[in-house]
Amino acid sequence: MIRRRGAILFTDQRYTIQAHEEVRGARVHIARRSLLAEVSEEIRRAGKKHVAFEPAHLTVAQMQHLQSRAGRGTRWAAWDGFVEKLRTVKAADEIAQMRTAAQLASDVFEEILPLIKAGVTELDLAAEIEYRMRRRGASGPSFSTIVASGPRSALPHARASSKPLKKNELVVFDLGAILRGYCSDMSRTIFIGRASARIRQWYRAVVQAQEAATEVISPGVKASQVDAAARAVLERYGLGRRFTHSTGHGLGLEVHESPRLARGEKALLRAGNVVTVEPGVYVEGVGGIRVEDDVAILARGTEVLTRATRNFLEL
Ligand code: ZN
Ligand code: ZN
Repeated sequence: MIRRRGAILFTDQRYTIQAHEEVRGARVHIARRSLLAEVSEEIRRAGKKHVAFEPAHLTVAQMQHLQSRAGRGTRWAAWDGFVEKLRTVKAADEIAQMRTAAQLASDVFEEILPLIKAGVTELDLAAEIEYRMRRRGASGPSFSTIVASGPRSALPHARASSKPLKKNELVVFDLGAILRGYCSDMSRTIFIGRASARIRQWYRAVVQAQEAATEVISPGVKASQVDAAARAVLERYGLGRRFTHSTGHGLGLEVHESPRLARGEKALLRAGNVVTVEPGVYVEGVGGIRVEDDVAILARGTEVLTRATRNFLEL
């Protein structure tokens, strides 16, 4: 709770030690009952007439609970994206953390390349990836690791399944690690065997789309322009309608943050933003290709944080 006279962190007894060790710039309040009950009690006791809340982070039930206990005279105002907006601009030390998290994901991907072969299941590889992330110090994956092979690779958000990899299939990997609180997010696509000319061309198109989008990224550019740059390349290849999601998203303490690199996004990019650039091509019944990297906008120029090779690997 942020008040004019300083902030309060409400937590419960499971976090007493941690809160006192880690919280700076706020008073720690250890709740004995439900957190929301004690928050609303504080609002009532302080006689607060105006309270702003973040609608994206409260359920309807939690909101009703707060309102019913805080007292009738209180006016509630939805205030969306306040903290998120602050978080879109990373300080230099945050970018340094994210560089390490991105490097970790890149290293793990290159480390598991020798394990990719026909007969191994998607889940086997996802488990290897997440195990190796933790061995390298990650607190966990940024999201449930995606390994999607053959026709399943045409599902942009397929989870790893018990399907074994087969010869002559595309395999999409989408992985990220959380390192000291910061997320990375990277996709690579490989082929098992020798790919057809058509699939090689799709791959070339995706990588070119990614390069075109990455080149556009700089302070002052509209987020939608980055998306448009990727889309224009895929349209030139006749693959425009195969690109079924947006070009990228902000990245930081959470794996999906502002700004979104999508059609109609008017936000202007700024130094300190870290975004993913991840065009893809998905063909039902055949497979999909996605290449994703994390890009930091620095005071001078941009830096691609993820380092794994973008060459088309035919294993
Ligand atoms: Zn991803
Ligand atoms: Zn992503």
